[in-house]
Parts: sequence; C-alpha cells; structure tokens
Amino acid sequence: MGRTLSENISKVKGRIAEAAQRAGRDPAEITLVAVTKTHPAEVVRAAAALGLTDFGENRIEEAAPKMLSVADPALCWHMIGHVQSRKARDVAIAGFGIVHSVDSLKLAERLSRFAEEARRVQPVLLECNVSGDDAKAGFAAHNPASWDKLLPEIEKILALPGIRAQGLMTMAPIVPAPGAARPYFARLRELRDYLRARLPPGEGDWRVLSMGMTDDFEAGVAEGATMVRIGRAIFGERA
Ligand SMILES: *Cc1c(COP(=O)(O)O)cnc(C)c1O
Repeated sequence: MGRTLSENISKVKGRIAEAAQRAGRDPAEITLVAVTKTHPAEVVRAAAALGLTDFGENRIEEAAPKMLSVADPALCWHMIGHVQSRKARDVAIAGFGIVHSVDSLKLAERLSRFAEEARRVQPVLLECNVSGDDAKAGFAAHNPASWDKLLPEIEKILALPGIRAQGLMTMAPIVPAPGAARPYFARLRELRDYLRARLPPGEGDWRVLSMGMTDDFEAGVAEGATMVRIGRAIFGERA
C-alpha cells in the first residue's frame, strides 16, 4: 500500500492547494486531518512516515489503544465522532489535540470537569447542525434568524475552565454533487463570523472551521475551511 498511500496523499494535498488557490487562500492555512478510523496503527505509522501529522478518529474505544500503540508525541490526534456522555472522561484524558464534536453544553461541562481533574485544558470545536437534518448531531444552527438563541449556551461553554473553544465543525448532508455542499459550509462560516462579533475572542479568535470530507472537501476549502477531515481519498474505501 506504500506507493498508493503516498500517491493518494500527494493527490489530496494537490487538490487542497488548487481549491485554496481558486479561493485566493494560502494552502498553508488548511490542516489535512487524515481519518484513520477502521485502519490499524501500522497505517497511521506509514502515513506519518510520509509526512502526515494530524489523524482523526471517531470512536474512543478504537482511538485510545491506537494512540497508545503509535505513541508518537509529534502527532496530533483529533476526536471527530459523537462523544457519548459516559465516554466523556475517556475522551478528556486520552490526549487529543482537539475534540471537534462538542455538541451540547452537558458534554462540554463533562469534558471540562474531567480535563481539569487531569490538569489539562482540552481544545475543542463546537459541532453545529447547519442543514436542519434531524439525524445530524450538533447545535441547531440552520436558521440564522435564531442564532441569537445559541449565545447563552455558548457563553457558558466559553466560561468552562477545562476546555477552550477554538472554532466550529460541521458535517454537510449527502448531496448529489460536491459543489452542492457549499451553502452549508458558507452558513457555518457566517455563523462563526456572527459569534466572533458577539463573544469574547478566547483562544484563537474562533479561527478554526472544520468542514469537508472526501466527497466535499473542495467546497469546504472554497468556503474557508481551516481543517478538512479526509479518510477514503487517502486510505481507500473502508471495509
Ligand atoms: C469518517 C469521517 C470523516 C471522513 O470521511 P471520508 O468520507 O472517509 O473522507 C470525516 N468526518 C467525520 C466526522 C467522520 O466520521
């Protein structure tokens, strides 16, 4: 798989760079998060040997042993999947560089408490549902007219000592063509700008926008993504 893996990584990086250039952006602003869920630790090591530094996982049960097995302090691990309340402790102490999927005040409070106990401050993103699809997790944010209703909860999250909100994350609905995801990503960026204008800057000034996967990452980059989460385009279809 070595050769294919390195080709896939080059192709994906090239596509990110082209999408950034088309949008008049610097490709260096965009972090490629390689999503290694279902793939073993050796695959992470192979990708790290080819220069990747950021890895995404969606289940703590799978991620924690993989992180221990790879044991490379130079890597940054991203929790990108839904975190159940009863798993908050495991997630808070696992050593993720960032948790993308904070989707409720309750989860934020639990992560903060367990991170504090472990004397950590956990960087997080707030996952937002900008499509109105009930099956998707996240703060309900599809209607800009009710964004003000999010402010009290987000203010409480910002006051929590054990976590630091650095931005927003979303998953676009499945759309017929990649470009059709753009309006959802645009809405997440507009929500970020809205929050930035009304809330304290915190750490990083709401800089991070995590949006775009294998089927729609160019649309994410076009709309301002600073992180794209890509699995299949790098590692192939999952079993
Ligand atoms: C699996 C997953 C991805 C990557 O999906 P691909 O289609 O393989 O690129 C990105 N984000 C989340 C939250 C995921 O669960």
